[in-house]
Amino acid sequence: MRFGKQDRLFVLTGAGISAESGLATFRGSGGLWNGHRVEEVATPEAWEANPELVWRFYSMRRRDATDAQPNAAHRALAAIEEQMGDRFYLCTQNVDDLHERGGSRRLHHMHGELFQSRCVSCERPFSDRKFYESAAALPACETCGEPVRPHIVWFGEIPLDMEGIYRQLDRATVLLVIGTSGSVYPAAGFVHIANQRGIRTMYIGPEEPQNAEAFDEILSGTATEIVPQLLYTFRSFQSRCQNAARDY
Ligand SMILES: [Zn+2]
Repeated sequence: MRFGKQDRLFVLTGAGISAESGLATFRGSGGLWNGHRVEEVATPEAWEANPELVWRFYSMRRRDATDAQPNAAHRALAAIEEQMGDRFYLCTQNVDDLHERGGSRRLHHMHGELFQSRCVSCERPFSDRKFYESAAALPACETCGEPVRPHIVWFGEIPLDMEGIYRQLDRATVLLVIGTSGSVYPAAGFVHIANQRGIRTMYIGPEEPQNAEAFDEILSGTATEIVPQLLYTFRSFQSRCQNAARDY
């Protein structure tokens, strides 16, 4: 599938792209952390029951993400954005900052951000790269003294700014989904919205997603293999268009 500067590209990325930088994302993977199911450390109920355990989990993830590096897929997406400007929009299910560090700017973290925290009462997120790994270290709000929690959308919570996401999806001419299992809603439903609007849809990943039949095209391979190729195709398509315009 080709797309060019005249298109509006909506990109959704998931666990697969972070996994290629060595990050386990846990969400929806059925994976265990220190013998705990993810549901035991990533829900409002877990936070109520054991904030120390929750903060140990997210502190560990902060350490892992700090050590990880953006990969070729992150960088290729940033390069496509550079060409397309505000006709490009990236919505990620990932909470790490690898897209930002890969150069992406027009970016929305629908499941929150690992390097932000927020007071349970004041609710305003703030940048936070600290580790809280003991009961004594649990953070409290400087303004009101209430507990500070990770700025993460837990199981059972509503993703951030769905209105903004749907607005972008409404304007897009191409939906590109990368490395997500197609099982976590509402993100798994974006392709159905795209189909209702009749726009082009493409999936990139090493395995077929659960909603594979909904896509116009499936490019089978890892994100680091396929996304840089997509950038190459985009660039050559772009330069052919420019040449054609000049020749004409
Ligand atoms: Zn507060």
